[in-house]
Amino acid sequence: MLMDLAQLEPDSTLDADIAIIGAGAAGIALACELAGSGRETWLIESGDFDFDAATQALYAGKNIGTPYAPLDTVRLRYFGGSTNHWGGHCRPLDPIDFERRDWVPHSGWPIERKDLDPFYARAQDYCQLGPYRYDAATWPGVKDKVLPFAPDKLGTRVWQISPPTRFGEVYRDRLVKAPDVRVLMHANVMEIVANADAGAVTAVRLGTLQGRTATLRPRTLIVACGGIENARLLLASTGVEKTGIGNRNDLVGRFFMEHPHALAAYAVRKADLERFALYYGELKQADGTVLHAKPGLAESLQRQRRLLSGCVDLGYGYDRSEGYLALRDLGKNLSSGRFERFGRDVLDVLGDLDDAAGGVCRTASHEAVLWLASNSEQVPDPESRVTLGDDKDSLGMRRVKLDWRVSEVEKRNVRAVCTIVGEELARLGLGRLRLDPWLLSDDPRWHDIEGRFHHMGTTRMSDDAKQGVVDRDGRVHGYGNLYIAGSSIFPTSGYANPTLTIVALAIRLADHLKQKGA
Ligand SMILES: Cc1cc2nc3c(=O)[nH]c(=O)nc-3n(C[C@H](O)[C@H](O)[C@H](O)COP(=O)(O)OP(=O)(O)OC[C@H]3O[C@@H](n4cnc5c(N)ncnc54)[C@H](O)[C@@H]3O)c2cc1C
Repeated sequence: MLMDLAQLEPDSTLDADIAIIGAGAAGIALACELAGSGRETWLIESGDFDFDAATQALYAGKNIGTPYAPLDTVRLRYFGGSTNHWGGHCRPLDPIDFERRDWVPHSGWPIERKDLDPFYARAQDYCQLGPYRYDAATWPGVKDKVLPFAPDKLGTRVWQISPPTRFGEVYRDRLVKAPDVRVLMHANVMEIVANADAGAVTAVRLGTLQGRTATLRPRTLIVACGGIENARLLLASTGVEKTGIGNRNDLVGRFFMEHPHALAAYAVRKADLERFALYYGELKQADGTVLHAKPGLAESLQRQRRLLSGCVDLGYGYDRSEGYLALRDLGKNLSSGRFERFGRDVLDVLGDLDDAAGGVCRTASHEAVLWLASNSEQVPDPESRVTLGDDKDSLGMRRVKLDWRVSEVEKRNVRAVCTIVGEELARLGLGRLRLDPWLLSDDPRWHDIEGRFHHMGTTRMSDDAKQGVVDRDGRVHGYGNLYIAGSSIFPTSGYANPTLTIVALAIRLADHLKQKGA
């Protein structure tokens, strides 16, 4: 059934068996799994079925750490959530990503990859992917396109590409028609209310942008608002626990992780692009599954050299040598009348004249060159975090302050991965790589760093309440009826895009709730 908070009686009090806050990938998969189970499940969504600027503005916040895109542009606040503009790249985390590795502080999930495998297999359908197969050798259509990397150094990591599934469009009808599901639109959860001893949730406070309010009393509550907003909502709910719900060990909002991305290296001579088709492109298989691949670090090498999990994006473009880029800058500055840099620009060109000339020739003959970009795991860092600022949104909720930290360890890791890829390409006679100067320098800063819109870690999972906000089932430590779904519960990030894992965990949570009789 479809409902709209704006149409309900003012200050209504409503009851639910299960309430899910947030209709993104996690919330929608959960609601679909619970539909038909006989429990009255409410799916509470802040937005409309389409983008609306006033609702989106609730996501604005402040970045105070590593440069990051504005927080209202890195996620979407309406039915379907950020899947309304995701890219659809899907891959499960590797088995080693779940392990406690003594060279990665705070690593280790309380579950293993094999515990998630059956749920990954079910998540494939939600993301409209092919069979649960991520080993290149099992796909006859790509076998001959796999580069013969030394297996103790690199492997070919396969991704499947979703159409991409717009969860809001694809699953809306199924949910609205389910007799035991209520989809409540324009309902912003502003606070989670706990009982006096902070052991259970009793209610959530809802409001529209126009000021209509209501109270919902669920027997079980699941927070599924996305990797940043999950933490914000817990931190903002201070009625009983003064530092926020589930935050008695000061962990909510900490350990924020992204997949830091920056161009890192390029091939210095014309690449044999055909050999790289699987890596820079997408290949459709006979059954319709679309595959893509990246070179990734062998697990044995990660253990031996104490490296993080990582791989590289390969693409092709045009010359990026220092000399050629300096020449381009010189041209751009002259044509826009910026003469003050003239002397400096000329010196830069003269400093790398060979590459400046080579770049002109390669560009004139439309020769493509390969580039590499980082795709790395982050070390979980308690100082990398989401907190609440003093500014308030139009509902009166404190806005997010994001302090994203990226460390020297990750930079060194990207350098190691690129070096290994370079060695392997040279051994195979496929091109010589030149690492970008920023990557070679000892300066810990990255150049032109970006995130991939993957927000992880802010309500991490651990069996130990002192190390994590939720337990292995996603239940908030100390609370009998409060759960969290989404990438905020990942203790480590791996290098794979998060949504397939988010959906797998949501399905697992739905099974858990049904078994528990929630
Ligand atoms: C441009 C872009 C490209 C991406 N590409 C990929 C990719 O290729 N592969 C991949 O795996 N991932 C990708 N992602 C990430 C992916 O979109 C997210 O991992 C995924 O959508 C997260 O699902 P979620 O349900 O946890 O959160 P979301 O999808 O963000 O959904 C959260 C929902 O909660 C609602 N909500 C928030 N706060 C409240 C509140 N207080 N009250 C009520 N409702 C609320 C929101 O309106 C939203 O509907 C991409 C993201 C972006 C932005």
